[in-house]
Amino acid sequence: MKLSELQTGQVAVIAKVGGHGGFRKRIVEMGFIKGKKIKVVLNAPLKDPIEYELMGYKISLRREEAALVSVISEDEVERSSSKMSEGELLTPITPTLQEQHELDQKMQQMAELQGHTLRVALVGNPNCGKTSLFNTASGRKEHVGNYAGVTVDAKEGKFQYVKKTTGECYTIILVDLPGTYSLSAYSAEERYVRNQLIEYTPDVVINVVDASNLERNLYLTTQLIDMNLRMVVALNMYDEVRANADHLDYEQLGILLGSPMVPTVTRTGEGINELFEHVIDVYEYKSKVARHIHVNHGSELERSIDRIKEVIQKNGQIRHKYSTRYLAIKLLEGDKEYNSFIDTLSNHDELVSVKYEEQQRILHELSVNAEEALIDAKYGFIQGALKETHRCSQTKKQAQTLSERIDRIVTNRWLSYPIFLTILFLVFEATFTLGEYPMKWLSWIVDNFAAFIMMSMPEGMMRDMIVDGVIGGVGSVLIFLPNILLLYLFISLLEDTGYMARTAFITDKLMHCIGLHGKSLIPMVMGFGCNVPSVMATRMIENPKSRLITMLVIPFMSCSARLPIYILLIGAFFPNAGSIVMFSLYFFGIVIALLSAKIFSKYFKVGEDLPFVMELPPYRIPVAKSIVRHTWEKGKQYLHKMAGLILAFSIVIWALGYFKVSIQQNDETKEYSYLEYLGRGVQPIFSPMDFDWKMSVGILSGVGAKELVVSTLGVLYSVDANIESSDASTHLQSVISNNITPQSALAYMVFILLYLPCIATIVAIKTESGSWKWALFSIVYSTTLAYIISWLTYCMFKVVI
Ligand code: GDP
Ligand code: MG
Repeated sequence: MKLSELQTGQVAVIAKVGGHGGFRKRIVEMGFIKGKKIKVVLNAPLKDPIEYELMGYKISLRREEAALVSVISEDEVERSSSKMSEGELLTPITPTLQEQHELDQKMQQMAELQGHTLRVALVGNPNCGKTSLFNTASGRKEHVGNYAGVTVDAKEGKFQYVKKTTGECYTIILVDLPGTYSLSAYSAEERYVRNQLIEYTPDVVINVVDASNLERNLYLTTQLIDMNLRMVVALNMYDEVRANADHLDYEQLGILLGSPMVPTVTRTGEGINELFEHVIDVYEYKSKVARHIHVNHGSELERSIDRIKEVIQKNGQIRHKYSTRYLAIKLLEGDKEYNSFIDTLSNHDELVSVKYEEQQRILHELSVNAEEALIDAKYGFIQGALKETHRCSQTKKQAQTLSERIDRIVTNRWLSYPIFLTILFLVFEATFTLGEYPMKWLSWIVDNFAAFIMMSMPEGMMRDMIVDGVIGGVGSVLIFLPNILLLYLFISLLEDTGYMARTAFITDKLMHCIGLHGKSLIPMVMGFGCNVPSVMATRMIENPKSRLITMLVIPFMSCSARLPIYILLIGAFFPNAGSIVMFSLYFFGIVIALLSAKIFSKYFKVGEDLPFVMELPPYRIPVAKSIVRHTWEKGKQYLHKMAGLILAFSIVIWALGYFKVSIQQNDETKEYSYLEYLGRGVQPIFSPMDFDWKMSVGILSGVGAKELVVSTLGVLYSVDANIESSDASTHLQSVISNNITPQSALAYMVFILLYLPCIATIVAIKTESGSWKWALFSIVYSTTLAYIISWLTYCMFKVVI
């Protein structure tokens, strides 16, 4: 009977727990495990929830939830043994200890028996062999036809199965459902199957798949994954796969999709026994392959799904019935049936408006409606999974889609890396050469604006603050905005065409060597632009360990904010070897990132290393509108940083330089600016590398944002030389080259490259990793490393130069 049917004071033994995976997991975690004894503390007819006592704890469960748990009660045992008719009154006699023990045993036995009866549903496309499988397994003779729509109703067949490994006997109730291509609400069959799965959640689903037509068949599989059902996939018609000489690594495919896969040929009965072995393993939670995975729909769609899911979850009363993720996906898709279903919910208005907002956002961001975007994403997921596991024979030249033809070239074993490196090189080349023009215009504007303020404002502290602090600080950073926007433009282009997803694929093997996944590459490449959005982009890596490691090594990717420092110092010291030095610095950063990743992956113990599918979305011609928007979105983050952090820090740095402190030294009173005082204070730390106090101040201010290093050096050195020149940057270079040795300059660049990430990045690491611990780790690790390597650089080049 159902747990909800027990009366107050009754005792029972749990036989099995039904419902979808999420519900089952929660309920099992609460202690509702097969064979455990449970007592009803209070079950009043109109009272919800019901209170139970389980293993000495009091637990309450909603009535609807309790209805999903099957139990064997003492009454049932007594009825079955005394063969009393129902309704007959039992004389309440207190049983002796011996009798109670026997009763308990009997209950356990019956619960065991009921626990060994499972409902298994066959779900699959029309004509994939479901009915054939049903007949072979259950020994029935249902009509098999080679056309769609033969099975319009559910048929049930019952048979005994003895599990090979344990010898235990199971009763299997097999349900043959109509064939469907998907689980939307478009046709009667689809609605029927879907309601069967939700209303009478089978204990295990066998997803029958036509293995000779995997791509289309797996689409339904991805929807079943969304529903969070326990599932085994029968790769039927495997004889045809063999006849075609295709290669399918079905074990790996099963691992990627989190469901065991068994090749079957229903005509001959091949694989049927193995199939049910897996069904029972999955049912008993003994399968090594079965796990709940999420089909990754890409960051935009996942964001929408999460948001809708959160609103749905406010309705505690439906969570037992629906996987909230599945419901969120269906609502985003615009499923009519579920749209009317949510009318019954209390927060219906909020749900409708959030759903509508997200649908509009997707339309806006991806330039397709949410339903199409979800379908595309699912096919991208399937493509990715098959790319790793499925190889069509050469003899069978299928008609290829354009995407497949492009992929043949782009992911080709020999061509992929040259193509990738060329694209990467072109992106950086274009970023810097094209970016130079607007950069010149902007710096002209900034200079003239400063000059205009100088002329129009009366002399004084206010003018100094605006010109030196605000314009000097923010202006020196603002001029790099064009480069940054360009870099983002190219990154958006690569993302939107679908090429970025391929880079994950081709570099996956290589990244595995350092304990990361191919997907880590994209955030790392983005790190060349700005570390902050790339730390956020690590969200698309499912694996928590890879995600954390990627996040921690991103700061070693030389972000665009560090570029001005290189340009300044390289111009001053190595004008003839500029590009070599620049390239070496970038390259060095990458090497440090990779080495660190290798070390981290060896010593970090964060979560399990579970395999996942790398999606291969179809190639698409990017839509100008969405490219511009994506670029702008990213650029906006940079501007935000400038308006807030950099402005504030510029003013602080300026103030520290403007106000003086008097220090009594021997007999003299010396006037220092606070900045100089601070710089001289920390300078001894950096004396092994021969950094002077101004450089030390630069390092301090770089903590705020790395762009500030240059503006700080600019302020400090030009104040020192008392120069008000029109060609400030050349002059700054000559002043610097007179004050610093080349080896010290090199060591300085290395230090700036490696030392602690800017505040914004630290905050991003904290937010994304969920703890200050990792942000702190990043600070300590990178700064220690920077110090050591910078010192080594200094020593090495002191000998050479
Ligand atoms: P359903 O629509 O999914 O119930 O599919 P049916 O069981 O009616 O089978 C559809 C067609 O596929 C029939 O002609 C079967 O004979 C054929 N079929 C079923 N299983 C296999 C198999 O393992 N190999 C091959 N080659 N054909 C099969
Ligand atoms: Mg059929």
